[in-house]
Amino acid sequence: MLSYLHSFHAGNFADVHKHAVLSTLLQVATQKDSAFAYFDTHAGRGHYALDSAAAQKTHEYKQGIAKLWALQGEWPKTLRPYQELLNKTGANPRYYPGSPLFAAQALRAEDHMILFEQHPREYPELSELLKRDKRAHVHNRDGYEGLLALLPPKQAKRGLVLIDPSYEVKKEYQQIVRLLLAAQQCWAGGTYAIWYPLLPDEQHLRLKMKLKASGLRNIYCHELRDINTEKARSMQGSGMLIINPPWSVHGAWYPLAQCLVEILRQNDQATAHSEWLVPE
Ligand code: SAM
Repeated sequence: MLSYLHSFHAGNFADVHKHAVLSTLLQVATQKDSAFAYFDTHAGRGHYALDSAAAQKTHEYKQGIAKLWALQGEWPKTLRPYQELLNKTGANPRYYPGSPLFAAQALRAEDHMILFEQHPREYPELSELLKRDKRAHVHNRDGYEGLLALLPPKQAKRGLVLIDPSYEVKKEYQQIVRLLLAAQQCWAGGTYAIWYPLLPDEQHLRLKMKLKASGLRNIYCHELRDINTEKARSMQGSGMLIINPPWSVHGAWYPLAQCLVEILRQNDQATAHSEWLVPE
């Protein structure tokens, strides 16, 4: 039974982090001539109203995208890929796009996106949103099993996989390690971007430890730590692991983390971390 609904969290500081990293990866991927495949194992509904009852209950977007809107378009240069895609989606202070819409704005006619969403209320929304987009293949299917069934992509040799679970159950951390090991067997050349929360129980440290011991290589780690330290049980920071990141992005990782921390920090302890978990 899936109880998580992203509408309560859309546009929060973790979404800003995840989508800024995603936009940077999408921008680089679509600069090459050959066709490209984008996979989203946990796609969500694709669009979120920030004046909905859910968003107004938590007000999480106020500590996220609202801080960027407050800059009145004067965003740091390092956030340009995010800003450009966000603007193309038609985002505004009452509406925030999900990851599939960032991809839809970046992809070209020859590219493809393969999206998985299992929730019975979220899938129809996503499917309706993209029903006229011939590049989109939307599956009401488990993203872990679906991804492995469809790798390597038939449509393109190059591609990016976003893995963005809700971590409703603790076993998802283990499941991600198993998924990545199996996915790399079928498609070693793909780029994989995994989002995870930094919670007080520090489960993410086990995820990183297991990946480090797994034999997988070329794993970059991008974290915004201690953004929010006020509430004892809530998410304190946001992390992304990027396997096989394109070389042309390497110089951008630290400035991106630093600039996001400066904008999103809720206290003086917040810090930016950008380093190899496992080098090539
Ligand atoms: N990636 C989205 C974005 O950035 O806009 C947000 C995704 S949200 C964090 C996680 C989504 O995964 C939820 O919509 C949830 O219903 C869905 N979900 C949970 N378990 C799933 C599974 N095993 N397979 C596919 N979707 C799943």
